[in-house]
Amino acid sequence: MMGFKVINPATESVIATIEQMDEQRTNEAVLRSARAFEKWRKVSAPDRARLLRRFAAVVEADLENLAKLETENCGHPISDSRGTVARVRDVFDYYAAAPERLIGQQIPVDGGVDITFHEPMGVVAVIAPWNFPLMIAVWGLAPALAAGNTVVIKPSELTPMTTMRLGELAVEAGLPEDVVQVVTGAGSVVGQALLDHPKVAKVVFTGSTDVGRRVMASAAPHLKRVTLELGGKSANIVYADADLEAAAAAAPMGVFYNSGQDCCARSRLLVQRSVFDEFAELLKPAVQAVAVGDPTKEATQVGPLISAGHRDRVAAFVTDEEEILVRGQAPQGPGFFFAPTVLTSLDGKARSAAEEIFGPVVTMIPFDDEDDAIRIANSTDYGLAGSIWTRDIGRALRTARGVEAGNLSVNNNSAVRLQTPFGGFKQSGIGRELGPDAALEFTEKKNVFISTL
Ligand code: NDP
Repeated sequence: MMGFKVINPATESVIATIEQMDEQRTNEAVLRSARAFEKWRKVSAPDRARLLRRFAAVVEADLENLAKLETENCGHPISDSRGTVARVRDVFDYYAAAPERLIGQQIPVDGGVDITFHEPMGVVAVIAPWNFPLMIAVWGLAPALAAGNTVVIKPSELTPMTTMRLGELAVEAGLPEDVVQVVTGAGSVVGQALLDHPKVAKVVFTGSTDVGRRVMASAAPHLKRVTLELGGKSANIVYADADLEAAAAAAPMGVFYNSGQDCCARSRLLVQRSVFDEFAELLKPAVQAVAVGDPTKEATQVGPLISAGHRDRVAAFVTDEEEILVRGQAPQGPGFFFAPTVLTSLDGKARSAAEEIFGPVVTMIPFDDEDDAIRIANSTDYGLAGSIWTRDIGRALRTARGVEAGNLSVNNNSAVRLQTPFGGFKQSGIGRELGPDAALEFTEKKNVFISTL
């Protein structure tokens, strides 16, 4: 067996050697998935719902094990990993309600009765990244299963552990054989084979914008459906009339959460010029207080970056030419840790203000008024998320409508709720995940006319 080593990013030790599948093994998995689909599509909606509730229950029973695995493989603080697994359970519970609610229409027409059906597509491929491997895989998996599709998941080579466990839990929950499969190996081999296979009807991809473009191009020959969740360069906009203490207390974890390895990270901090210096002073102690360290410790808020290579990439943004406002703490020694860092860019033109860093680095930029804030927020090809801090509800709504991004929060830095749609404008992606309509994204609408003449 060809294998690849999986590393614990907090200790740099090898935790497992995993099978490196080739194109042929991937194609076999797709064919098994296509065969399983013929049976799975015939399972009644109430039975599919029951199986998804059982899936939620087995995830719940395995919560501590999954959380420890995710922490070991990704370096997420253990309290975050427990929260992740609880949300994964909730996603299965939420979409367990979907099979029985994929309700079609009866449309008034001449000469007969007309009805619509939401038909499953077939084999769905979910290509997941390393930053939130379990959660992001399940955002595709649960609604796809609910709609009657079978699913092949390809985790990132860096983080396959919890996804592989999820494959075992699918069987434990009682899902028929091959309805959920996990294929492991290189993106350029296994991921590409999924994109090229004619039996894959839809691809859900989360990752970099560059690979996202390739996914879309590879999907074109077969007109495969795609959902793409890509990068971001989100703005956290703080107006002078905001509760500045609350905004400054929340800003660090709005970008440093998961070491900034978050497509929704608020990595541009736009602060109104009249309170820029006051806000900077409030921010410094909040950044220094962020607990970076051993992710197995309950009190840790931020763990390591995913790899040595990624740490080098992030470090390249913090050079002597940059204005460093404040740096937090990070342990020395083994592990790919990186101290949370705030840069300032008074003209907004620093490289750190333009590119997705995907690390614990945020750039503070001043703005003059509402129009200026919206202009700067929109001066990027990305459009995923953003925050607006103000006490003026009208300003909050005008700004929220003006910012070209899929997910805005007011007086809060959250982005994702399983009950609400999530996705990007512009080069942050195509399509939406989660929310009440996600199962429909895995169906084709069919219209049937029945003559009554
Ligand atoms: P990638 O886009 O390279 O990887 C995401 C997934 O796609 C992985 O499972 C990867 O597999 C797979 N993949 C890679 N190449 C192909 C291909 N040719 N065909 C099909 N699948 C492929 O992200 P990276 O891990 O390289 O991260 C780079 C940057 O992407 C980050 O620094 C960040 O800017 C952004 N990113 C954004 C994420 C988000 O949530 N929006 C998540 C992760 C990254 P494998 O890893 O095994 O090669």
